[in-house]
Amino acid sequence: MRKVYESSQLRADFINHVSLWTQFHNVPHEMLSAEGVLYLARKIGAPVSEVEQGYYAGRLYMKAKVSFNASEPLEDKLMLNHPSLGKILIYLVYERAGRLCPHCGRVGHDLSGCARRNQILTLCADLGN
Ligand SMILES: [Zn+2]
Repeated sequence: MRKVYESSQLRADFINHVSLWTQFHNVPHEMLSAEGVLYLARKIGAPVSEVEQGYYAGRLYMKAKVSFNASEPLEDKLMLNHPSLGKILIYLVYERAGRLCPHCGRVGHDLSGCARRNQILTLCADLGN
């Protein structure tokens, strides 16, 4: 007998993940390598591509395609504990993120379609009554 739930589980898992090209800015010089950037990428999701490089305002940055859990908000920065430089903020830029909700930071809906925001608005309206 076939186990139907396994394929539906797989489909649900597929829908809950989104892959985005993620730029890593302000990376310490010695980490500007494929190995260094994949290390950073694994802190925010699962890298699914090779590392590429680009330039912004004359400064080199690295990017990789990273698979994220779409039910979690996207981070806009990442704290790195550097052995000699101390705490460093790595800034993350998502390329062609499509609909990225400015309220909850999740991908796939905009402000008017945000269930979390609508929940708060409903709570506020209830308190006002
Ligand atoms: Zn939202």
